[in-house]
Amino acid sequence: MKFAADFHLHSKYSRATSSQMDLENLDKWAKIKGILVLGTGDFTHPQWLEELKMKLEPAEPGLFKLKNSPSPTRFILTSEISCIYSKNNKVRKVHIVVLAPSFKIVEKINAQLSWIGNLKADGRPILGLDAKELTKIVLETSQECLVIPAHCWTPWFSLFGSRSGFDSIEECFEEYSKYIYAGETGLSADPPMFWRLSALDRITLISNSDSHSPQKIGREANVFDTEISYPAITGAIKAKDPRKFLYTIEFFPQEGKYHYDGHRSCGVSFSPKETRKYGGICPVCGRPLTIGVLYRVEQLADREEGFVPENAIPYKSLVSLEEIIAEAMGVGKGTKGVEEKYQKLIQAFDNELKILLEVPQSELETITLPKVAEGIIRVREGKVFIEPGYDGVYGKIRIFSKNEQKELTKQKSLF
Ligand SMILES: [Zn+2]
Ligand SMILES: [Zn+2]
Ligand SMILES: [Zn+2]
Repeated sequence: MKFAADFHLHSKYSRATSSQMDLENLDKWAKIKGILVLGTGDFTHPQWLEELKMKLEPAEPGLFKLKNSPSPTRFILTSEISCIYSKNNKVRKVHIVVLAPSFKIVEKINAQLSWIGNLKADGRPILGLDAKELTKIVLETSQECLVIPAHCWTPWFSLFGSRSGFDSIEECFEEYSKYIYAGETGLSADPPMFWRLSALDRITLISNSDSHSPQKIGREANVFDTEISYPAITGAIKAKDPRKFLYTIEFFPQEGKYHYDGHRSCGVSFSPKETRKYGGICPVCGRPLTIGVLYRVEQLADREEGFVPENAIPYKSLVSLEEIIAEAMGVGKGTKGVEEKYQKLIQAFDNELKILLEVPQSELETITLPKVAEGIIRVREGKVFIEPGYDGVYGKIRIFSKNEQKELTKQKSLF
């Protein structure tokens, strides 16, 4: 069966998360978003784990559902750990996502980790633990667990992060590298960035929302065609089998604040190639440019841009339905008109992913404004205008050209 999964998110017990991040809301929003298998997040947190055990019951092997609920949503036990440690005389900060097949195994992992740091302090605990040691603890508890480096390219907290990461999987995980079957793309990167490094051909790329609020779950996700069970899902990831792991759903990484290099105050935004041409120096003020995520990829890359490895799992870049509606209407997100149009579409076609990926334009037009339908189709076909973010300035993904946007604003003022 074809279904979408989002493994990495955070409960209300993580810092800076919505108080709405409880199981009932996750269940509800998974249905609205079109996610069938949802990570619980934060299984290392004692209170959250209590809630999980109290409110969930076993469903298919290794998956869980809300007790006494007809909901199709399935939960998979996941957590994220922030490893902060020193290795080879450098401070390393690496976030790791763990998938586990049962409460029993989660409890064993937690028992060991609680010797190392305070698991109660945060749903995503910070441990003074080498990422390799974490891998050892998890896999010695159960070989069925998956250990996955999170948002691999973010500057501060990731495997390849420019500030505190490593240059290779092997440098970080050493003899445990062979157990690293997957890497998470994160919001600031997409698969083509990984494809630049031949050393990463062997791993499977997964994509998750890392959501801190229910409305954002599924903004990045994984689409499988397998039996619905923990062994089938983790098996498809390990095997990197494109018949079972169909594609990932990605953000446009250019939307991130540090995609390109540049100077905000000088209005300078450079691709890595341009940065190199100028020797990393701003042509306006003469000071060093702020370096972005793409530059870091270029540093480690051994292939040209645009290279697609033979065994790559495909991906689709999406913009959230709320953003498409808002842009098509020429108004801000979170306004009442946008909310109404959103709900109407969900009522008609079940869920957001289906609307974004599958419903034909003609059917969309029976329910919503032609401009919204047009926007959905343009995103589906990748016909968007991209302005990469740089030096703390968010990037912009525009569906309609500046002229079209002017038209929309004019039309809006007629109503
Ligand atoms: Zn993280
Ligand atoms: Zn996270
Ligand atoms: Zn400058």
